[in-house]
Amino acid sequence: MNSKGQEKNAFCLYNADIYTGFTHIREGFILIRNGVIENVHSMQRFESYSDISMYEKVDCKGAVITPGFFDTHIHGIHGYGTEDATVEAILKMAEHQLAYGVTSFLPTLASLEKQHTLRAIRAITEAQKLQQKEGIPGATIRGMHLEGPFISTNKKGIHDANFIKAADKDLLKEYWDASEGTITAMTVAPELKGMRSFANEAQKLGITLLAGHSNASYEQMVEGIEVGILHAAHFFNAMRSMHHRDPGVVGAILIHSEISCELISDGIHVHPALVEFLVKEKPAGKIVLVTDSLKPTGLSPDGIYDVKGDNVRLENGVFCRVEDGTIAGSALTMNASIRYMLGYGLTKSDAIPMATLNPARIYETDNLFGSLLPGRQADLVVCDKELNVKRTMIGGRFCYDNGRTL
Ligand SMILES: [Zn+2]
Repeated sequence: MNSKGQEKNAFCLYNADIYTGFTHIREGFILIRNGVIENVHSMQRFESYSDISMYEKVDCKGAVITPGFFDTHIHGIHGYGTEDATVEAILKMAEHQLAYGVTSFLPTLASLEKQHTLRAIRAITEAQKLQQKEGIPGATIRGMHLEGPFISTNKKGIHDANFIKAADKDLLKEYWDASEGTITAMTVAPELKGMRSFANEAQKLGITLLAGHSNASYEQMVEGIEVGILHAAHFFNAMRSMHHRDPGVVGAILIHSEISCELISDGIHVHPALVEFLVKEKPAGKIVLVTDSLKPTGLSPDGIYDVKGDNVRLENGVFCRVEDGTIAGSALTMNASIRYMLGYGLTKSDAIPMATLNPARIYETDNLFGSLLPGRQADLVVCDKELNVKRTMIGGRFCYDNGRTL
């Protein structure tokens, strides 16, 4: 208790425009106690709420409140990337994402040389432990996403062909052990020889499998679905395209509506008309916005950068390899990715779950976070109507406030 009779760690955020993940409360308040959401109500209940005086009150003055964003595919930001393979870089990535409303993320590794991959995996694992132990401010590391190396050389994007591997259960085991059991997601090409038994092994370990960087035929992707490859990495990008006599991996994912997919929504990775088509075709819970952002994201608007030894040019928010123009990744942020969806005509109620509840469901963490239901961890974002982030809260504590990490 403080001098005003308020409990410690009890907050009331009021006068807010709240998107819970399930409903929209135009004028509401959220009660948070000991890091957990206790209740969400319309302002009509504010005066009559019996023990409102117990809470420290924060007037949100009409600001938007959403669940914290969960970026499940991110390589780097603000000059720090997973390829740095250091604990410091991973913790800096966690910190810099707060400004974009991200409260949970999966640091994502592209195909690297084996020793380099092992170093990066250990760095992520250590960073995660340190974050838990010392409460370092930053988006929560929720394991990691290995994008490759078990992918197709035909659809490698800017992955280095020298580091792409055949499906190899022994190598998977080595990476798993190095991660101390924290690999959450793996992007694989379903058509690789031996993928059936590889997928079985990965699933025994509890890893979510995504189809990606794949040249699979329709039949090969369906076989992938049969062995549990039920999610897809940056849908449409680095995948065999659809042809009416050869639907390929893209066709299979469109036809099988139960398969979920990541989407890079900047309008360049995927044509806006196709994004609109996808929104119409896929069930609402199956689209997940990701940034796939690279290390120089957020540093400077345009220019040439070095990413994993490749010269890449940043132009209009997309990185392309200078040598051949191959798209290398985005300079997107999570709040901007939702904003793009609004530009395609979606409402906030439709678009926000794609960055919050949907990824939490796919990675089976929705009972912990991803919505503003009572009992969930108080991970949330306070932003303006254009989704510019003002404050970010993780576990009931504001970690970011108007440009400052707290
Ligand atoms: Zn990627």
